[in-house]
Amino acid sequence: MSRVQPSPLNRSGFLGVGSFLMVVLSAALLASTTMWAERDFQKVLQVFFVDVEGGQATLFVTPAHQSLLIDTGWPGNDGRDADRIVAAAKKAGISEIDYVLITHFHNDHVGGLPQLVARIPVETVIDHGDNRESTDAPTVQVWQAYQQLLTENKFKRLTVKPGDKLPVKGVEATVISSDGLVIDHALAGAGQENAVCKGGESYAADQTENRRSLGTLITFGKLRILDLGDLTRDKEMELVCPNNKLGAMDIYIVSHHGWYQSGSPAFLNAIAPRVAIMDNGAKKGGTPSAWDIIEKSPRLQDLWQLHFSEEGGPGHNVAPEFIANPEGPDAANYLQLTAWPDGSFEIFNSRTSKTKQYSAQH
Ligand SMILES: [Zn+2]
Repeated sequence: MSRVQPSPLNRSGFLGVGSFLMVVLSAALLASTTMWAERDFQKVLQVFFVDVEGGQATLFVTPAHQSLLIDTGWPGNDGRDADRIVAAAKKAGISEIDYVLITHFHNDHVGGLPQLVARIPVETVIDHGDNRESTDAPTVQVWQAYQQLLTENKFKRLTVKPGDKLPVKGVEATVISSDGLVIDHALAGAGQENAVCKGGESYAADQTENRRSLGTLITFGKLRILDLGDLTRDKEMELVCPNNKLGAMDIYIVSHHGWYQSGSPAFLNAIAPRVAIMDNGAKKGGTPSAWDIIEKSPRLQDLWQLHFSEEGGPGHNVAPEFIANPEGPDAANYLQLTAWPDGSFEIFNSRTSKTKQYSAQH
């Protein structure tokens, strides 16, 4: 899995080689580079995968200059995660966040919200409804902090259910799952039988907030991006068995940081992503069994990781150029997706400063 292409600037290095073949190859590469460089960067969808050490914080900025942040990372650490999100917002050229979507009320997802709203204005927060997990102390604590922010009118609140469209301009965002319910019909173009369901996978019902995750499909022209928060395998089965309600994805934001409780074989076979991006931490997520299922999914070109996974070790991590934060002290490197409506996209690794391009496949 080491197929990162050189950046366009590096490609001109081929010109110094004298052989006829290399000249022809160089010309072809330069031609494709020019075409790529001529793309309209005013009409792109930008997505920043912020490193919050095994929580989630994914910032979408649409060509209509609207912003949607999915989750806010952890509480504490002097606002470390909120600072990293604000840094990404700055890079994206925005000074307020229109929508923050909280997938569920676990502290690695909603924990950073009080620190975030202290640093940058947030217009509306979207959620699945009230917290349902009253037995877990950290969850109760972040839920109370959330209610406090609501009392202080820090933002508007919008609660959504499966099938709803989010009011974000510049993309189409459809709610797939919310509060333990999932869409009851196949999306347009989907609905085919899923052969892997015949293996008889079945999973006990999760009892936590994870299964209540607010999941969305974000469509930008021909590009399809799936984010289901920490939705667990029992709920995945309702989405993809016996028929695949979702259809194939271009980009899969790996559920649950790549932990084994999510990402079943039937689910990965159904969504068959071209690219998967895993928001794992060094010591959280990236379970070898879940990593294997993603790597074996039918159309996968590349898996990217926000961190080297210690649990994965040498056998279950991608090649270094696909990892934002390798072993060692954390430097908060991020991954950035830039996408065009024709379905083409590129991914930038802030650590290596290299970009890999993916052409449209429709
Ligand atoms: Zn999580």
